[in-house]
Parts: sequence; C-alpha cells; structure tokens
Amino acid sequence: MKHILLVITTFLLASCTQQAAYRTDSGVVFGTYYKVIYASSENLHEGIKGALRSVNSSLSTFDSTSIISRINRNDTTVVVDSLFALVFTTAQQVSAQTNGAFDITVAPLVNAWGFGFDPTRKRTQSIIDSLKRCVGYQKVSLKANKVNKAIPCVQLDASAIAKGLGCDVVAQFLESKGVCHYLVDIGGEMRLKGANAQGNRWRVGVQQPTEDSLLVSNQVASILSVTDVGVATSGNYRQFYYQEGKKISHTIDPRLGTPCHHSLLSATVIAPTAMLADAYATAFMVIGNKDSICTIAQEQQLGVYLLYASQDSIESVCNPLFESYVN
Ligand code: ADP
Ligand code: MG
Repeated sequence: MKHILLVITTFLLASCTQQAAYRTDSGVVFGTYYKVIYASSENLHEGIKGALRSVNSSLSTFDSTSIISRINRNDTTVVVDSLFALVFTTAQQVSAQTNGAFDITVAPLVNAWGFGFDPTRKRTQSIIDSLKRCVGYQKVSLKANKVNKAIPCVQLDASAIAKGLGCDVVAQFLESKGVCHYLVDIGGEMRLKGANAQGNRWRVGVQQPTEDSLLVSNQVASILSVTDVGVATSGNYRQFYYQEGKKISHTIDPRLGTPCHHSLLSATVIAPTAMLADAYATAFMVIGNKDSICTIAQEQQLGVYLLYASQDSIESVCNPLFESYVN
C-alpha cells in the first residue's frame, strides 16, 4: 500500500449549480485504500462501490472469476467487457509509445520475482529466459472482444493501470449523477475535477520518497494545485525486498526480465485521465533515464516530476507542464 500523493483539504461549503456539502467516502479496494471527496446533496457511496466492483470483476488478477483471470487461465469462452477493452487498448498504446517499457504481459515475470498474483520467488537465469518468451505486448491482441495470444503462456497483469482506471470510472459515475466537484483517490492515484470546498483548485502533495519501506515519510516534496486531470505517482521505495544485499523492486523491465535498478525513486505524472497518468508513471519508473522520459512526456503532453537519489540528497526534475501546476 502506498500513499505517495496526499490530499490537502479543508472542509467548507461548495458552489456548483447549487450549493452542496462535500462528502467523503472511503474504504478498501485493489489491496489499497480509496477515498472520494465530492460535492453532492446525495450520498453516492453505494454507486461508488458499484463502480469499483465493476473494475475489480474485469481487471483484478486477485479475483479468480474476473475476466483477466479467466484470460490468464486460457478460458477461450471469455468475451471482454468495455472496461477491459479500454485498459487493453490503452496499455498497448502506452507500450508502443514507451518501446515496451510498459507492458501488461509482464505478469509471468512479476510472479517470478515474487510480487504478482502467483508469487513464487523461484528463479534462475534459465527460468527468467524461458519466461521472457511469454512476455511482449506484440504477443497479444484484441479482436471482436476476444484476446488472442501468440503463445498460451502469455498472461496479463493490469496492476499498473487498474487503479487509475478505477479513479476514472468513479469519476464517470459521479458525473452521471451531476457531481461537478470531486477528488477520487485510489492508493495515491487521483482524478480531480472542479473545485475543493474552498472554491479553489484541489491541492495535492507529492510525498518525499524514503529509502526505508517501513518508514512513512510525511514530508512533501512538491504541492500541486490541480483540476480536470489525473495524477499518479509510481515509486520504487515502498514495494521491494532485499535479496543477497540487492534491492528487488516491483517494477520489472519486461525487455530484460529483471527488476529495475536505477536512481529514480519516484515518477509523478499529470495526464488527462488517471488511467494514462498511472500507466506512464509506471513506464517512467522502468525507463529511468531523464532525457528519454522528458521526450515522451513532451510527445504525449504529460506533466512529469521525477525524484532521483543522488549522493546525500534527492534531486528533482520536472517539465514546464508540471511546473505550471506547482503551487
Ligand atoms: P504502485 O502504484 O503500486 O507503485 P504501479 O502503478 O507502478 O504501482 O504498478 C506496479 C505493478 O505493475 C507491479 O506490482 C506489477 O504488478 C506491475 N508491473 C511491474 N512492472 C511492470 C511493467 N513494466 N509494465 C506494466 N506493469 C508492470
Ligand atoms: Mg502505475
């Protein structure tokens, strides 16, 4: 669980088409927390839970009955739903735009390194090499709502994009109910719209990374004033373990088959949707290299903020689009 993006809030009254109080609903989903703040005269928590359930039953690899789990078991009868199709298509686009750094077919490798839905932690170079044959976004396609695999051992892991999608699906539900001011936060990935209770843009803090996964840093590295966007942070300083003195992170380079090792501690992305922000934040953690990341951010018109470990301090890099949101 991570709390890399922090919501900075105060509660007052809202103004939209009509004045409505801000409500907060929260709970647990996708192995993390969710928190939704919205201006509405109606309690919409049941609908929010329903929206989250729809994402879970489509894309959770931890639910054996989900569409993605059935695809992973090579159930040939499975027809995908619209959420799966959206995530799949977006993931394939991000894969192409990041030269395969982001790749939802990474599942067998994530499991082999002890992180996924079927963690084994049993691996040798030859196991990794043979698993690499099952990995690659070009080995899978979607036609007539059916997933086709080039080899049966291909498996999918949507963890790096599903929380973002969850934020967007809840946002869509709220908008269908006429809500025009909201913040949806799932495990630190966010989708925001309208104004906060004070009538200003939403304020979001990017947490200062710490090297110790048990140490929760409440230090804020940057504060943003945002609205009408998705924001996501991916970090390699929370989800990792040590093996023979080496840090094993949960971000895997699908092309190499190994966890990423570089000095990039976290990547924060601002995008039109939380799904895109989530996917690119993970992709940037894989890429690591500042210049390559900035080129992609420029091409895709993304705001990006990178925190690198340097000798005794943390160095930050951001692009002008991100800068325009810094408070
Ligand atoms: P978090 O928000 O938990 O930091 P991310 O959004 O960065 O996580 O997603 C990390 C998860 O995505 C990993 O635990 C793994 O399941 C999966 N993953 C790891 N490497 C990749 C990759 N290169 N492309 C897509 N998904 C990945
Ligand atoms: Mg992600």
